[in-house]
Amino acid sequence: MTNQITLKRLARFSAAHNYWVNDLSAAENAALFGKWARSEGHGHNYAVELQVAGELDERTGMVVNITDVDRVLKSEVIGPLDGRFLNKEIAYFQSRPSTLENISAYIFEHIASKLPVGAELTGVRAWEMSDLWVDRTKRGDKMTVSLTRAYDFSASHRLHSALLSDEENLAVFGKCNNPNGHGHNYDIEVTISGEPDERTGMLYSLEELDRIVNEEVLLVFDHKHLNLDVPDFADRNPTSETVTLVIWERLARRIPVSGSPRLSKILVRETARNSFEYRGQE
Ligand SMILES: [Zn+2]
Ligand SMILES: [Zn+2]
Repeated sequence: MTNQITLKRLARFSAAHNYWVNDLSAAENAALFGKWARSEGHGHNYAVELQVAGELDERTGMVVNITDVDRVLKSEVIGPLDGRFLNKEIAYFQSRPSTLENISAYIFEHIASKLPVGAELTGVRAWEMSDLWVDRTKRGDKMTVSLTRAYDFSASHRLHSALLSDEENLAVFGKCNNPNGHGHNYDIEVTISGEPDERTGMLYSLEELDRIVNEEVLLVFDHKHLNLDVPDFADRNPTSETVTLVIWERLARRIPVSGSPRLSKILVRETARNSFEYRGQE
């Protein structure tokens, strides 16, 4: 048995940037990135989580001393980036757009070789906002890049299967079988994986993703009674498992599920205590 452990460490920094592709005109940048292209810039409170894996050191009971991880984080990421205008002040972002996809690459490249011997950087998660983050995950020589966007909607439903008797429905679903229904504030996460576009620095256009999720999910589900108002549930019991699958099916009509970029995961959180995932090709 190996004593391989992965630890995670979170750090934060604030920076300004604007989305800008150097070889496009101002009008083309504005068309591609909207208000995020404005040259005056805008700012974010970024968060960064490192995933560091290694064998447990029997003497210390640790994989790596977390103060060593913090020292590298400070010298390579927080020190150079905190309080800066990324495009204007950081050379790395003068030759490529300062998207979250590229910021996570910067972090990976600057941290990976600086960790103490025996500690391997296996992943970086970087948040631009609480509802937008990028994962860069390394398994062997393979790097996977994923972009996740979170959304929410409110809906009512009644758990009731046409394949069960009324008594069986009540026995299985209990108060969730209430004839007049009940409601939830659903949180959903949509994950796209693949290779970021070299020119735009993006895995997928956020504006397009928001538009598709809005048309296929939010406008259809939000403030609706799932059983009565959403045709997908006419013959299907709207459990969160089914809601997860229906969201996948709806988005898969508009976003490829293989190749790059691809829809790779849907997560549905019905309450703070339960969540459901459907994963396609990682
Ligand atoms: Zn931004
Ligand atoms: Zn419910």
